[in-house]
Amino acid sequence: MEPYRIKAVEPIPTTTRQQRVSALDRVGYNLFGLRAEEVMIDLLTDSGTGALSAAQWAAGVAGDESYAGSRSFHRFREAVEELTSYPHILPVHQGRAAERVLFSALLVPGQITLSNTHFDTTRANVALSGCQARDLPCPRARNLHRPEPFKGDIDLDGLAAQLRGPDSSRIALVIMTLTNNGEGGQPVSMDNLARAAALCREHGVPLFLDAARFAENAYLVTQCESAYGGHSPTDVAKEAFRLADGCLMSAKKDGIVHIGGFLGLRDEALARRCELTLIATEGFPTYGGLAGRDLEMITQGLTEALDPRYLRSRAEAAAHLAALCRGTGVRLVEPPGLHALYLDAGHLLPHIAPHRFPGHALACALYVEGGIRSVELGSLYLGKEDSNGDPVVSAPYELLRLALPRRTYTRTHLDHVGQSLEAVVRNKDRVPGYRIVEDAPLLRHFRARLEPVLAGPGIVGTTGAAPDHGEGPDDRSESAQNRSRARRAVAAPPATDGRRPA
Ligand SMILES: *Cc1c(COP(=O)(O)O)cnc(C)c1O
Repeated sequence: MEPYRIKAVEPIPTTTRQQRVSALDRVGYNLFGLRAEEVMIDLLTDSGTGALSAAQWAAGVAGDESYAGSRSFHRFREAVEELTSYPHILPVHQGRAAERVLFSALLVPGQITLSNTHFDTTRANVALSGCQARDLPCPRARNLHRPEPFKGDIDLDGLAAQLRGPDSSRIALVIMTLTNNGEGGQPVSMDNLARAAALCREHGVPLFLDAARFAENAYLVTQCESAYGGHSPTDVAKEAFRLADGCLMSAKKDGIVHIGGFLGLRDEALARRCELTLIATEGFPTYGGLAGRDLEMITQGLTEALDPRYLRSRAEAAAHLAALCRGTGVRLVEPPGLHALYLDAGHLLPHIAPHRFPGHALACALYVEGGIRSVELGSLYLGKEDSNGDPVVSAPYELLRLALPRRTYTRTHLDHVGQSLEAVVRNKDRVPGYRIVEDAPLLRHFRARLEPVLAGPGIVGTTGAAPDHGEGPDDRSESAQNRSRARRAVAAPPATDGRRPA
């Protein structure tokens, strides 16, 4: 059971299917556009969405809001140094600020960064520094459905080849992302981390941890890596930090706060350079864009995030939802991690082509069915189409992510997600695809507007409808008919008895 009880509650709004269908139409079928009160269960992200403990709120009230040298900063700095062993701790308002501050001090244009997989803001900040981010996920990560441990590892052969290869002089740093968010939230083993650290040391390249989920990674190490069976998550986390030269931290994840982060560094000269950017863009080094109360809440949250009972109950919640999903026949990225489940929408909805966004189609269907907000990680996020909507680049997989906010939802809420998914799956042939009608030049999945298009064999195939793009003037009315049929397909209530509605 969860090792906490509930003291403050927030009502969950109730919406009707018709309200959700209208809301979806209003926001151009992009769930990022919804107002939060139009969502019943919000699994969009686990970032900054966790529930604070009474101890965190109390620590916040005791926060010292002095501009310089606050008591809260010194408590925070000492606690983070004790955990990480890094003598230089720079607070920042969130993880991506740590990336920007570090890269502005460390990277020069034309250099290369290597990672087990760069998180998307990390990649963007590397690119903004005029550098190139190269991902080296281990080959086992390619098999989504095989439940092997530590699929978040870096490919050590690939890393060695890069460090010895023709571009070696341009390699500025290596970042190990714990857990590997870009690869299904899979953990990194201590063995892999130690070997990567040894390679970096051998070649004089600094190693940084993207430590957003360092506690969840440490917990999975205690569960799955035999050499660490008897260790506590705290001991594993400390050892991981000690293998690296510094860390980038989004405290919105395993700091269990709504906002905050930090940069930890061993190197004094580098820390001094980072402080210049910090002062110019975040704030004085003893607050770095945060209030004293935020620093107090992070200090407390980092301890709570390492509590084995909390971590176990989080793992069990993920396992519970994973079992519900598998029960509906949906395939998952296996094994499920702690912070999110990744559903294989490409496998579930084979009638929807990648550039008609099966992951997004499943997200919309789950929202209409149960008021659940989730996010696509597939070709809407990573792909590219030409002006006809024909594919130029497709994502390797069409996934839907159900992120699990920390300490926020109960098993009953997860049961509701499972039941809603089951209802969607019963009528999966009727789920329409989508096309983009208004694109955004960068990070389009946040802002694009879409519309449903008929894509299913049960829909297009039996009616012999026209293709959904490139229509000439003659078939415009047929296309309009298609369009309204597609909109109806979004709204169609599922048959409760397994029969397909007329
Ligand atoms: C969230 C996240 C970041 C960025 O942190 P923000 O606090 O959202 O800016 C960086 N890396 C990883 C692995 C993350 O999950």
